[in-house]
Amino acid sequence: MQDTTIEKVVIIGSGPAGWTAAIYAARANLQPLVLEGVPKQEPALMLPGGQLMLTTEVENFPGYPKGVMGPQLMDDIKQQALRFNTRSRGVDVVRCDLTARPFTLTLSDQSTLQAHAVIIATGATAKWIGLPNEMRLARTGGGVSACAVCDGALPVFRNQPLAVVGGGDSAMEEAAYLTKFASAVHIIHRRDEFRASRIMQQRILGNPKCKPVWNSVVLDVLGENQIEALRLKNVKTHEESTLPVKGLFVAIGHTPATSFLDSKQIQLDEKGYVTMPVPHRSMTSVEGVFAAGDCADAVYRQAITAAAMGCRAAIDAERWLGEHDIH
Ligand code: NAP
Repeated sequence: MQDTTIEKVVIIGSGPAGWTAAIYAARANLQPLVLEGVPKQEPALMLPGGQLMLTTEVENFPGYPKGVMGPQLMDDIKQQALRFNTRSRGVDVVRCDLTARPFTLTLSDQSTLQAHAVIIATGATAKWIGLPNEMRLARTGGGVSACAVCDGALPVFRNQPLAVVGGGDSAMEEAAYLTKFASAVHIIHRRDEFRASRIMQQRILGNPKCKPVWNSVVLDVLGENQIEALRLKNVKTHEESTLPVKGLFVAIGHTPATSFLDSKQIQLDEKGYVTMPVPHRSMTSVEGVFAAGDCADAVYRQAITAAAMGCRAAIDAERWLGEHDIH
């Protein structure tokens, strides 16, 4: 099925970045089309609405003094976009031809569509260790999380022993953040040295609350409704042990959802994040294609920063369309 109309702006992705871009594009009279995506289990769980759909309480999004559940927050942002002239479709983009304008997008329902401008806001997925009880307790707010800044300040973690898995900058950052609340932060790493930058390592290793657990992997997460302990294995000695903790923060990296893009057509970095060559702007290496949110941000990865990037991308797209007399 070939749609012959050319969309002014298509937004790929339906997290905080995508729907915020839609609010701004719709209010600028661009009648944006949001391609929301379809739920996926593999290679990682992804839902339309993004990572907030897998989060319980969000306490740090401005405008919600009493906090808000992640899925509710996403629905609120979506409803705000739909209130203006935003359309949406529950499809994935499987392929993009960005070599000629208008751009051509091939969708998961076998149809194609054309767009003058595209905003890529497909997000990223946190990597999980892959233990059955890890995912169960992460989905039910049972004390397993992939974001300390999002969840670390919750009352359940106060003055409790917590654990972080990973040895990169994210793990150091998460551990440092958690020391504000925890009685101790065990940093479980599969090797005997961290990968993180020297300065971040030093900060952690010099903090009496931080306790590295070297050469160790998590075998299982123990606890019925709330995490109670971790089953660990020392990979050198093969010894197993139990570590009581009230929270587990997995910080072993993220995967940007950009596999539908061809790196010969649009510049991606070595980890697959969309690169934005002009500092503080949302333009990508392809004129008319803009990026927003976690698919282009390996550093902040917050709902509010993604939303702000969506706003920037919509404003940049509107100006670009205006410069090309597309109204
Ligand atoms: P990363 O640098 O890829 O580190 C991932 C860590 O997780 C590594 O230590 C790795 O172990 C470990 N790991 C990976 N898979 C694992 C598994 N299945 N089980 C157990 N451990 C596993 O990822 P990141 O820390 O998220 O950082 C990503 C990028 O963002 C980096 O370039 C980083 O510098 C940047 N970043 C910067 C800042 C900052 O500057 N403030 C903050 C956060 C992130 P190995 O070491 O053994 O491979």
